[in-house]
Amino acid sequence: MQWIYKMLISLLTVSLIGCAGNQNATDQNEAINQNVTHVNDRANKNNLKPMDVAQNNSGNVGRLTQNALEKDQGLSEEYHGHISNRPETKQKKEKPPAANNRFIQVQLLGINDLHGQINVSRKVGGKLAGRADYLGAYLKQREAENKNTLLVQAGDMVGASPPASALLQDEPTIEILNNLGFDIGTVGNHEFDEGVKELLRLINGGTHEETGNFGGANFPWVAANVINQKTGESILPPYKVLKVNGMEIGFIGVVTTETPTIVVPSGVEGLTFSNEVEAINRNVAELKKQGVRSIVVLAHNPGTSGLNGENPTGVLVDIANNVDDEVDIIFGGHNHAYMNATIDNKLVVQSYSYGTAFSDVDIEIDPKTKDIVTKRAEIITTFQEEIEPDPEIAKMVANYEATVEPIVNRVIGSTSVDLTALRNENGESILGDLIADAQRQALKTDIAFMNPGGIRADINPGDITWGEIYTVQPFNNDMVKMTMTGQQIREVLNQQWGTKTTMLQISGFSYTWDENLPAGQKVGNIQLPDGTQMDPNKNYTVAANIFLAGGGDGFTVFTKAQNKEIGPVDLDVLVDFIGAQPKPFTYEIDNRIQKIRY
Ligand SMILES: [Zn+2]
Repeated sequence: MQWIYKMLISLLTVSLIGCAGNQNATDQNEAINQNVTHVNDRANKNNLKPMDVAQNNSGNVGRLTQNALEKDQGLSEEYHGHISNRPETKQKKEKPPAANNRFIQVQLLGINDLHGQINVSRKVGGKLAGRADYLGAYLKQREAENKNTLLVQAGDMVGASPPASALLQDEPTIEILNNLGFDIGTVGNHEFDEGVKELLRLINGGTHEETGNFGGANFPWVAANVINQKTGESILPPYKVLKVNGMEIGFIGVVTTETPTIVVPSGVEGLTFSNEVEAINRNVAELKKQGVRSIVVLAHNPGTSGLNGENPTGVLVDIANNVDDEVDIIFGGHNHAYMNATIDNKLVVQSYSYGTAFSDVDIEIDPKTKDIVTKRAEIITTFQEEIEPDPEIAKMVANYEATVEPIVNRVIGSTSVDLTALRNENGESILGDLIADAQRQALKTDIAFMNPGGIRADINPGDITWGEIYTVQPFNNDMVKMTMTGQQIREVLNQQWGTKTTMLQISGFSYTWDENLPAGQKVGNIQLPDGTQMDPNKNYTVAANIFLAGGGDGFTVFTKAQNKEIGPVDLDVLVDFIGAQPKPFTYEIDNRIQKIRY
């Protein structure tokens, strides 16, 4: 594989390959939860039972067409936690109370979980939404309505991004945020995908061996609860005070304390993620001392609510209830959901994900008390048909796309069937089998495990480009070879039914499971390819990506494996495997996972 890379590098002025480094396979919890909804949605549309969808490959033209369209736009939506089936949120902000001329009108425009989707359109209720040039047009349009406008972001701007951003170290995404004039932001879990050094380089500027010198973000990033264990200091300023029309607004940033469990260990080495509420309250006290009374929290924490703010749920609700009442507004993120609710007199918002929506929060500040006296929000979907794309951003995006095009459009192989990641009733998918096979073969192990949340798109029949394979495995996870006992392998399998069900994709063995048995005992026979049973006391070599090997998705037994060795990057493994198949090739579900039927 390396030779192809070298050849390509010589074609390019900048070398782009292999630069995505050690990104991880996170927000998989988000993805898996969404996945369930989407499978059901699709099943309903096609009049099928949920989970049968993958087995119906015949005559399902509508589905394939839709898939092909999504693929043309970049990423298949099914595995990304994108909510496409959602109300068209066109609700108008409540009429402001009788205008008080004394009050200063300020507008806060917020996004969360952009994930570098600068050139990816997604469908919302059947209509296209998203792309940086459309999002940018909306933000600029609203900005023009009120000169007292601040643009804010609540984390996961980068990471799990398409090649046009990822192959350039996500610098394009930061450059676009710069161009749009963002004023402040915080970090999400994904900003840690490549470690804190790269995170700080993207923010503060610096040199990367693949992309050269980069100027960084031209707006501040705040994070109050990410602590460097050596210095005891937060890695970024905990808060910043911005002035709008003479009014001071304090912005405090926090990121989910779950970050260490959903990011590869190397990404968060030496960092402590401390309690969000304590971190916020400590800094609210500090801001109050300075006389700042208008306080906004940028929290990369999940939450959701009904359209009109009813039934708010999630960590954001707990945060709102427990932080100092001087906090006025919380911008959330992480679970890619809708939120527009008032909790304990704090306005809490989240605007889906991927640039398909943004939050418009209108506030009034009383110059006498310096406090926010009124606040209201609407969440706006960035439908493409309702606005002209911003020409400047469109040009930037086209340039990034042209830069990565030689890599992205290279044809690696060809398939005559839909290589789908949708799992059947047993828990197995075609693409899951294929990826696990690729990993087992590349690492020359007895068996392989692949986490389903790390399979991020389908591959449609026809030519398979590098870009398509990238959308399937966008994280550039290192592979790990390790040794486990048959007993440990059984324990890993039994961990699939935890607080949620996560069906690992496998290679090198087959097994049965019984849903009527209690958690921890569902796995029955584990059979090897020669027909013998796996020996609980024998050692087997195992391949898995570094996310799973580190105990990701709750598979803690992997942390007990021995002789861990880092191998090639998962993307390269899949590219090599597909490239070595006949053209075209076919793949089918191998019935490695068998649910016992009564
Ligand atoms: Zn997140």
